[in-house]
Amino acid sequence: MSQAGGAEEAFEHRDVVINSQDKVSDVYTQLEKLGEGKFGTVYRLQEKATGKIRAGKYFRTCTAKEKEAARAEVELMNLLHHPRLVQCLDAFQGPAQLVMVMEYVAGGELFERIVDDDFEHTEPSSAQYVRQILEGLQFMHGQAIVHLDLKPENIVCVSPGSHWIKIIDFGLARKLAPDTPVKVLHGTPEFMAPEVVAFEPVSFSTDMWSVGVICYILRRLPSAEALLHPWLQQPQPSSPKVLSKERIRQFLARRKWQKTGKALLALKRLTLLSQSLEGKASEAQDEEGVDCSLEKEQPPGTLPQRGPNPSGLLTDREEDGGSPAASGQ
Ligand code: ADP
Repeated sequence: MSQAGGAEEAFEHRDVVINSQDKVSDVYTQLEKLGEGKFGTVYRLQEKATGKIRAGKYFRTCTAKEKEAARAEVELMNLLHHPRLVQCLDAFQGPAQLVMVMEYVAGGELFERIVDDDFEHTEPSSAQYVRQILEGLQFMHGQAIVHLDLKPENIVCVSPGSHWIKIIDFGLARKLAPDTPVKVLHGTPEFMAPEVVAFEPVSFSTDMWSVGVICYILRRLPSAEALLHPWLQQPQPSSPKVLSKERIRQFLARRKWQKTGKALLALKRLTLLSQSLEGKASEAQDEEGVDCSLEKEQPPGTLPQRGPNPSGLLTDREEDGGSPAASGQ
């Protein structure tokens, strides 16, 4: 894609077999630390035989579970041979660590690049980045794999001068099978789809929520410009494809449950409050001989005549239904 700033280096990819014979230090020299992730520390490596620079992710694999997770990431990456996805080129299993050797992506995080004073941030450049993210995702989804942790930190530039990007970090990625629902409770809150927050089955559209958030960060259009967008300008085709209503149905069902849950919560709090007021009143009666029969006669769950404003019983956050992601807005 010429718009992304010239030709890209030849695409190198391999089917990696985890090497348990050699040590990573036999083949690569470890250089400086590049970053720290949830599952491992990443170092710059130099291949001794060729001088090529690589990135090595060091996973601790002391337990069987840790070992399984690291090996799963390598196996998944064997299915992800695409120029927009970072490539795994080698892997070494030691007694207590697995090292995954990847191509080195030298340009740093995309958003860091965008905020650089020398970078001209425009609609076409934003569209070019989103297009590349979608190309990578299209390939992943074609392999039935969901990324589940798409966020700006995981979109990196190939080199400091080019506009080519790659998606990194497949640590939370999962392969989906048609009749096996996958529910996850991880990710990065700002980019999490509502079904992740609600612990409901994920799908390929779970990644599309994150793309939407990234897109929105890059191009919050003013309303006037939004109205000029081709999506709203194009005449509707004569036989439009009918869209699925499933997500909207799930959204409405979740909202109804949330409302019921909030009503029960409010009732519980009112009961607790009236009990605590009752307790205080009887203490006061014991001390001062005051008649508190009014409060005592109230059935549990009704509003007390005195005490805090009942509208303060729910916090703002609860009344709003939590975060925008949680409410699916
Ligand atoms: P984790 O899966 O443990 O969260 P990541 O894969 O996100 O780890 O890697 C942690 C950090 O290491 C990244 O944010 C990035 O800065 C750096 N990094 C990871 N992979 C590469 C790579 N192939 N080339 C250059 N830097 C990388």
